[in-house]
Amino acid sequence: MIILKIGGSILTEKDSAEPKVDYANLNRIAEEIRQSLYSDEMSNDLIDGLVIVHGAGSFGHPPAKKYRIGEPFDMEDYLSKKIGFSEVQNEVKKLNSIICQSLIEHGIPAVAIPPSAFITSHNKRIYDCNLELIKTYIGEGFVPVLFGDVVLDDEVKIAVISGDQILQYIAKFLKSDRIVLGTDVDGVYTKNPKTHDDAVHIDKVSSIEDIKFLESTTNVDVTGGMVGKVKELLDLAEYGISSEIIDANEKGAISKALQGMEVRGTKISKE
Ligand code: ADP
Repeated sequence: MIILKIGGSILTEKDSAEPKVDYANLNRIAEEIRQSLYSDEMSNDLIDGLVIVHGAGSFGHPPAKKYRIGEPFDMEDYLSKKIGFSEVQNEVKKLNSIICQSLIEHGIPAVAIPPSAFITSHNKRIYDCNLELIKTYIGEGFVPVLFGDVVLDDEVKIAVISGDQILQYIAKFLKSDRIVLGTDVDGVYTKNPKTHDDAVHIDKVSSIEDIKFLESTTNVDVTGGMVGKVKELLDLAEYGISSEIIDANEKGAISKALQGMEVRGTKISKE
């Protein structure tokens, strides 16, 4: 079973103040996923189980920022926070609907599983989440699609749960064989490659020591950026689940990675 995470930086115009889908990337990636899943006759399953997780990009981040979701607040502001929760949830659902539409049009039996409908957190980390239904969908050959979302938290009341955290949690409990994480850079560098010409590519990360020297991402969003991703993936590596971070802007990279072919990127693995 493979989990494919597609970043908000790929599927949306991430820095846009208005929610904007990158349709060229979305439709190309949907086609790459279809080719990786099925033979031409649409008969054989080439991959034994796929779950897709996507980020919130320019749909989720502006309202999350506007309502400061995740920051401490006084109970007198709770109603406004709840409106913020609803707004974020509604926006990420819209993005999810557009993504599922494209997947379906490309012949992929996508089924949306909104995290806010079945996950709660404790201090911004997932702690209650029943994955039985997802397992059943996978068993039937559906492709569950989850996404970064808002959830109820028993400590801070309202939390944003990133696609990266969801990926980490479900990979562990569904015992995923492999993780492919598509973002807008071809892996982890010694510095942010978007802002530093002297950034050096890191082929493999095996422990937190390997990324200790990294400056914290300058492209930080409410969910943590590149360092946050690597930490989630290192946690999985401890469980023996390997992952790779690849550039999903690169044509064919996702389809190659899904089929187990070599793609330039960063591997996160214990071995
Ligand atoms: P996504 O929306 O795809 O989940 P993010 O925007 O959260 O992705 O994170 C990817 C971004 O992290 C890249 O666009 C890059 O600018 C930034 N980044 C910061 N530091 C690094 C680093 N050391 N190596 C690679 N990318 C980095």
